[in-house]
Amino acid sequence: MGVIEELQSRRVPLATLPTPLESAGTLPSGRRLLIKRDDLTGLGIGGNKARKAEMLCAEAVTAGADALVTVGAAQSNHARVTAAAGARLGLETHLVLGGSSAGPRQGNQLLAELFGATLHDGATDSWTELARRMDDLVAELRSAGRRPYAVPLGGSTAVGASAFVLAWCELLEQLDRDHHDVAAVVIASSTGGTHAGILAGRALFGGPPVVAIDVAKASDDLAGDTRQLADETLALLGSAEHVNPADVLVDPRFVGPAYAVPTPEADAALVGLARCGGWVLDRVYTAKGFAGLLAREAEESFGDGDVVFWHTGGQPALFAAGGAPPLGFASDVLSSRSLSLDMERP
Ligand SMILES: *Cc1c(COP(=O)(O)O)cnc(C)c1O
Repeated sequence: MGVIEELQSRRVPLATLPTPLESAGTLPSGRRLLIKRDDLTGLGIGGNKARKAEMLCAEAVTAGADALVTVGAAQSNHARVTAAAGARLGLETHLVLGGSSAGPRQGNQLLAELFGATLHDGATDSWTELARRMDDLVAELRSAGRRPYAVPLGGSTAVGASAFVLAWCELLEQLDRDHHDVAAVVIASSTGGTHAGILAGRALFGGPPVVAIDVAKASDDLAGDTRQLADETLALLGSAEHVNPADVLVDPRFVGPAYAVPTPEADAALVGLARCGGWVLDRVYTAKGFAGLLAREAEESFGDGDVVFWHTGGQPALFAAGGAPPLGFASDVLSSRSLSLDMERP
């Protein structure tokens, strides 16, 4: 069996695929901007985590699990999508979340609760402490006779990342079909699972360079961790290929002070893309990713060809406190950093 058939057989269909590849006008340099709309994967309002959920939940079901347990930041998209997957598959879902538990549920938490998940939240933002709490919860459920399936931060195991081998093939097919010549694909990277899966797919099937914009500062060596996960993903698929370290491009310049702390560049990118064509980015991931794309474009760091922005979703966080740039921002800051996309208007 080929790798693609093998991967297709390992997923439980939860997402709406393939996602569109959309033409989004012309960047200042004259190159075309394409947007891979993984914000439209469907499951529980979508995003990149729906692809990972297909692979992870298939493994959970095969293992006979009766509950899903995962961990994330206060406004975790991964936790929200896991809750939706649990609802779809009839699996009880527990979410260990950072941040504080004060106030009414908003954004991703509101949705996760709507999907019927149990939220175990508050009191810490330390990733190691959150992981420890998840381990404790898993042990508790086991001793109560349950069969929990635990998913680490971001769903970024080799199994989760393997979804992006398929996603990469999906993109290559779309580029080929529409005769696009692509200089680079740009994504926002946090735990590195999405990037790792894409790199594994690229090692197997080729394709344009991929630039990951680091939005988390969670790892001292995101590029190294990503390469290791990509190699684990290739091994999981029975491939002896390895990812060349020179192909792991991680740009650390756009994270700002910390994960989920907004930056003026990202806010300008968010407002700019919204006003150019009604696209919606989120402050935590995709706006920083798109700000990185624009800065690299201005530096002329891409080769010849179009640029693909891989839109990984995240919109529900816009509807939580601090999730959107403040009113008045647009007139103050945006004017000095305006994004001009030359749109082909219908
Ligand atoms: C999780 C997430 C990412 C990053 O994906 P990783 O696989 O963790 O690197 C990017 N964008 C959005 C909207 C996300 O929710």
